[in-house]
Amino acid sequence: MQSSLEKKADLKYSVKTLKPGFCCIGIVDTCMLKCKMCQKWKEDPGTKGISQPTAEQWKVFIRQLRDLVDNGFEIDFGGGEALMHKDTLELVSYAKGLGFRTTIASNGYLIDEKMAKKIVDSGLDSLVLSLDSLKPEVHDSMRGVSGVASRVLKAVKFLRKYSDKIHIGICTIIMEQTLDGLVDLAQWVNSNRDEMNSILFMAAMQPNNTEVKNDWYENGHDHFWPKDIKNVNRVIDELIRRRKNGDWIGDSVVQLEAFKAYFKDPSKFVKKNPCNLDRAVHVSSIGDIFLCYRYALLGNIKNGDDVRKLWYSPAAEQARQDIRSCKDNCHFLLNCFFEGDYPFSVVA
Ligand code: SF4
Ligand code: SF4
Repeated sequence: MQSSLEKKADLKYSVKTLKPGFCCIGIVDTCMLKCKMCQKWKEDPGTKGISQPTAEQWKVFIRQLRDLVDNGFEIDFGGGEALMHKDTLELVSYAKGLGFRTTIASNGYLIDEKMAKKIVDSGLDSLVLSLDSLKPEVHDSMRGVSGVASRVLKAVKFLRKYSDKIHIGICTIIMEQTLDGLVDLAQWVNSNRDEMNSILFMAAMQPNNTEVKNDWYENGHDHFWPKDIKNVNRVIDELIRRRKNGDWIGDSVVQLEAFKAYFKDPSKFVKKNPCNLDRAVHVSSIGDIFLCYRYALLGNIKNGDDVRKLWYSPAAEQARQDIRSCKDNCHFLLNCFFEGDYPFSVVA
């Protein structure tokens, strides 16, 4: 007999053939930096006092996930600062041994020579380092701690010393304080291709761990919101020109155009098609499994919940239906979950 949830879910395809498209593990929910555009360093009431999975529980999840996906499927380890978690590199090695590709997003602060060697030895495929400006005073001021930019630059050298294969990406936030240095940064990455492999620009968003407000960029968190839209357009147009000329800029032209529309009027709807989180597997630092944070908590790896069952469950199918009909003007989609020219409607 069908449950009400099963009846409600309109199965448009054979769920048994749907595979996850990507997996993000938010291995830790804290950070040692004090960024002005992110407040991961402040306590999240949603995870306060809740235990985290053990290394063995993470491994069980990774092993189960492997049954759902093809060889070479990518697991992204993020946070907070992923390298603060003692088990991150052990889990990277474990995932590599099972045939996954692995990526870590990091602020670079902990990567001295010893850590760089450990990272390379773990078999990590790709490390994405945050660097918002070539001017150390700008980067450090936005990151709230002095010496961060210098550590990132050293981290690149240390990592290259131990591996010429690991992908090193730079990730840069477009905001008021960084705008005028973005082209120089893109130029620098592009002319140092023996050290770095890519640069990805991201639009400034409402800071993590702050109360959701539609007008956050006007009230409360407007100190890093770009003030002069003409300047935004001028800088992004130059990045687009370079991108078209073959510079190593990770964002597509459509994504860069979408940034312009977003900075011009963030309240304008940017989503054209349903977002692709119906194929996402997210796991939080406390082990919660979900597709989109807004729809249906499917289970928790600390309870022994099996992602192979959860992925095909009526609750997951209902979440997919909800995601496909989600009308949220979701700014996260500008930076993440990006596939080709999807899902933006670029309206001037
Ligand atoms: S942006 Fe990154 S480095 Fe800065 S507080 Fe957030 S998690 Fe930490
Ligand atoms: S648009 Fe945003 S809130 Fe809606 S399903 Fe996608 S990620 Fe979730």
